[in-house]
Order: sequence, then structure tokens, then C-alpha cells
Amino acid sequence: MTHFYQRLSSFARQLSTSMLLRNLLLFVLWLAVWMLGLLVEYTEHASVWFPAAGLTFAALFIVGVRAIPALLSACVLITFWAGHYYQLQLDSWQLLQGGLLFGVAHIIPYYAGARILRQLANRGQFNLPLFVIGFLLIAALSSILATIAVIAALVLSAMLPFSAISSTWLPFWIGDLAGVVVIAPLFASVLSVLYPAPKFVLENYIGPQQRIATAQFKYKLALTLSLLTLAMLLAWYANTPESAFAVFFLVIPHMWIACTESAFFNAVSVALSSFFIALLVNLLALMDYVMVYQFAINVIAANALFALAVPTLTAANYQLRLIAATDSLTQVASRDHLQQRAELEISRCLEQAQPLCLMVFDIDHFKQINDQLGHSVGDQVLQQACQVTQHLLRPTDVIGRYGGDEFVVILPNTEQDAVVAIGQRIIERLLQIELADQLQVSASFGVAALQSGDSFRSLFERADSALYRAKQQGRSQVAWH
Ligand code: GH3
Ligand code: MG
Repeated sequence: MTHFYQRLSSFARQLSTSMLLRNLLLFVLWLAVWMLGLLVEYTEHASVWFPAAGLTFAALFIVGVRAIPALLSACVLITFWAGHYYQLQLDSWQLLQGGLLFGVAHIIPYYAGARILRQLANRGQFNLPLFVIGFLLIAALSSILATIAVIAALVLSAMLPFSAISSTWLPFWIGDLAGVVVIAPLFASVLSVLYPAPKFVLENYIGPQQRIATAQFKYKLALTLSLLTLAMLLAWYANTPESAFAVFFLVIPHMWIACTESAFFNAVSVALSSFFIALLVNLLALMDYVMVYQFAINVIAANALFALAVPTLTAANYQLRLIAATDSLTQVASRDHLQQRAELEISRCLEQAQPLCLMVFDIDHFKQINDQLGHSVGDQVLQQACQVTQHLLRPTDVIGRYGGDEFVVILPNTEQDAVVAIGQRIIERLLQIELADQLQVSASFGVAALQSGDSFRSLFERADSALYRAKQQGRSQVAWH
């Protein structure tokens, strides 16, 4: 027992040490990222983008409340540093109060946003397009709330004059929003590896290949960053608003990366581009157009994020088409799909003067099977009849369920004699199916060959009347028109 306790407490100690280390790492990372924002600050309290907001959102999303101590301490420390940097006339007590107020104002809106997003992700079946749209909306809402709260906190703690509110709030909000949209996906990905039992692991939802880039990724990135530099040099050289808007063309290479690389490398490229934009705005002194660049960062990032959902949407469309084209019980073509395929094959064979046959078959006395053995046995008989038939067909033939126990087979490039032989072989196989109560499975067949001027309807009607004859003549046989 003592041994057990020793092991347990040493395990707990290890865990708390590593938790402490992790929180320390988050603390340092937050300060570093905050400095990164300062690097590209263009007016007091407003930078082109504010990556610290992205880290806060990601930490609260992945780690939850456990991240709050590290984030709050970082907010307090940075306030002391800001007091010194902006030469504010505040004593330590006022700075501590201001820092705590700033921390709470900054953390609560992002915590609420992260919680709502997590609930959205865990609600029923995960839907990536909805998740991305949810993230973008929540990012916009939580960043405006954080902006209002933080500006109020700064004014209350005498760190921002009241008169500066009107000129500060919009760049502050857009900068925070850019930080969340650009940086949060990247940090969420990193933190989900760093922390044990993360609250959300994107890889569980969109596949395990997230940390692998294609061999071409570096070229795509180099091209994108070169285009970015060119666009911004153009703005610097021409010094007109029109030239500043050239940066929006970057949506195209980012869309390309988003559609061809994993979610992680999509996030990496968006973060790099955004950092480069922010840096070049400062280096090339493009302050007059800073709002253009802030909006560009947001548009590029939101667009690239939404592109992540494109493969999912394509797959969902494919799935829907498949469902519409397939009969759910027998997995053969649905009536509509069969008709479409038949029309195509008929016009092709008429054009190329090729033979084509249409075969209709209907299970004999199927009602009796249903009545005596139950509907589920009836269902199995329909499935087996389709399997048996499919085995005897070529890949170019199409079988579809016309309705109830009636099926249609299109056989392009096939003469009537061969089709009659196939029908007979299907009958033999069906008779081998074993049923209780000495019941047997058999079917009657009607075959018609394509004639000039035929449509699916006319061809089907001839085959159906042949089927009627097969039923009249005693069933379990093939009749042809
Ligand atoms: P006949 O030899 O004249 O074809 O006699 P039959 O009893 O097979 O008559 P009919 O083809 O008109 O009967 C079709 C029956 O198939 C009627 C319907 O209850 C049954 N049925 C239709 N769809 C399904 C299904 O999906 N599953 C099952 N188990 N039965 C079905
Ligand atoms: Mg029948």
C-alpha cells in the first residue's frame, strides 16, 4: 500500500511539474507573441494584427480553464511592461489592477467563444463547413467583445485616454480578429500535441495526415511570399490606394495551398503571409493603407480556412449523388439512375449502329414468399436475385430496380440470343436458392432488342409485354419480343 502511495504521489508530482512547465511555456509563448504584435504596431494599442488574441483563443479552446492562470499572469506582466514602454504615470498597484482588469477583459470573451465553438464541434455529427463558419463568426463576435471590454479596461485604468476610443476600436478589433483567424488554428494544432487530454483534436475530425506537407509545399510558399512582396513593393512604389488593393490577389495562391495541402500547412502558410504583410507594412511605411492590409489578412485567412471544407463538401455531394443513384435495399441502380443510363446507352448504340437489349424480370409469386416467410426473407430474396444477376453481367451492363420485385437490365453491344441465354442462366441460379416451406425462387423474363427510333419507354414497353407473356405461359422462363 505504501509502495502504491509512493508511486501515486511521485506520478502526481511529475504531472504537476510538467503541467507547471507547460503553463510556463504558454506564459512565455504568449509574451513572445504579444511582442510580435508590438513589432508591427502602427499606432498606440493597435497593430496590423494581434497574434496574442489568436494564442489566447487557441489555448482556451484546446486547454480550457487550465490555461487561464498562465494567460492572466502574462496579461499582468505585459501591463507592467507596457506601463514602462508607453511611459505611463502609474504606480505598481495601479499597474497590477490595470493588468488584472485587462486580463479578465481579454480572457472572458475568448473563453466564452472557445466554449461555444467546442460545443458546436461536439454536437452530433461533426460538420467541417459548419465548424469553419462557426469559428469565423465566433472569432468576429468574441474579438469585438474583447475589444470593447479591453478598451473599457484600459480607459478605466487610465492607460488609454477616453478621447482615443473612437479612433482605436476599429483597428483594435480588426487586428484582434486577424490574430484569432490567422493564428488560432496554428496554435490550436500545436497545443493539442503539447497538452495531455486536449479538449479538441482536429486530426480526429479531418484525418491523420495533418503534419505532412507535399514535396511542393515549399515552392508554393516561396511563390506566395514572393507575390506578396511584389504586391507590397508595388504599393510602396505607386503609393496609391489601387496599388495597395493588389494584396487581395493573394487569396488565389492561398486557395491553391488550402485545397492541396493539409489543414496544418494551410494554417502555417496563412500565418506566415500575415506576418509578412504586417512586417512589410511597417518596413515599407505603408501606414496610409494599413486598413486595406488588415482587411486583406482577414479575407485571406477566412477564405483559406473555408477552403478546408471544400473536400468535405465535394465528398458530401458525391455521397448524395451515390445515394440518389442507388437502390438502398439491393444496391443496384435506382429507377431514375437506370433510366438516365439507359437513355445514354440507347442513343450511343443507335448512333454507332450497335445492338442493345433490354431485359425486364419480375420474381414469380413473390407475395407468397412474403406472406409465408415474412418480409425480411422477401428482402433477402430481392438482394440475392440482384447478386446472382450481377455475377452473370459484364461491367458495362446496368441493372436497376424498376419497382417492387421488378428489375431492368440494359445490355449494350449484346444480341438478343445472348441475352435470352443470360436470362436462362439467372433462372437456373435462382432455383438453387434454398428457402423454407419448400418454396422456390424463380423469375420471369422479357427481352427486347433495340430498333431504330426507339426510346427507353418504347423499348421497355416491348420487353414488359414479353415479360407479361412469360408470366402467362407459366412463369420461370424467358420470352422475347
Ligand atoms: P407474379 O408472379 O405475378 O409476379 O406474382 P407476385 O406475387 O410476385 O406479384 P407481384 O409481382 O405483383 O408482387 C409484388 C410484391 O412484392 C408485392 C409487394 O408486397 C412486394 N414487395 C414490393 N417491394 C418489396 C420489398 O421491398 N420487400 C419485400 N419484402 N416485398 C416487396
Ligand atoms: Mg412478382
